[in-house]
Amino acid sequence: MEITLALLKPHVLRNSYALQQIKTLIGNNFTILESKEVCITKELSERFYAEHKGKFFYHRLSTFMRSGPCYAFILESESCIAKWRHLMGPTKVFKAVYSEPNCIRALYGLSDTRNACHGSDSESSALREIAILFPEFKIR
Ligand code: ATP
Ligand code: MG
Repeated sequence: MEITLALLKPHVLRNSYALQQIKTLIGNNFTILESKEVCITKELSERFYAEHKGKFFYHRLSTFMRSGPCYAFILESESCIAKWRHLMGPTKVFKAVYSEPNCIRALYGLSDTRNACHGSDSESSALREIAILFPEFKIR
C-alpha cells in the first residue's frame, strides 16, 4: 500500500458543490487516513513549495494558497500517488480541459495557479509534505 498527500485549494472550499463532488470521488477511490481543513501560513507555504522558489509563478502560487483555507488528506491505496495524480489531471487547466475533460482540474480548475488541487509526485515528496501538513501523523 502507498500513501499520498492530497490538497484541495482555496477556491474549491468556496464552492460547496465542487468540494462535495471531490470528497465523494476521494472516498470512492481511497482510504482516507487523515483529513482536515488547514490554513496555509507563509511559513508553511515556503516549506511546502520550497522546490518552486524563484520560479515566475512562485509568489502568485504562495499568495493564492494563503487566500483562504485548504483541505488536506492523507490517502492510501495501491499506486495511490499515480492514481490521485491521474484523477487530478494535467497541471495546466487548458491542457486538462482539452485532453481529459472529466478530471478534477478540467472540471474545477480556474487557471494554472488556481488548478483546484495538489498531489505529491513521489514517495519521498509524500513523506515530506505529510510531515509539513500533518506533523503529528505517524508513518507506519
Ligand atoms: P502539484 O505539485 O500542485 O500537485 P504538479 O506537480 O502538477 O502540481 P508543479 O510543477 O509541482 O505541478 O507545480 C506546483 C503548482 O504550481 C501547480 O499545481 C500550479 O498551481 C502551480 N504552477 C505550476 N506551473 C505553473 C505555471 N506555469 N503558471 C502558474 N502556476 C503554475
Ligand atoms: Mg508538484
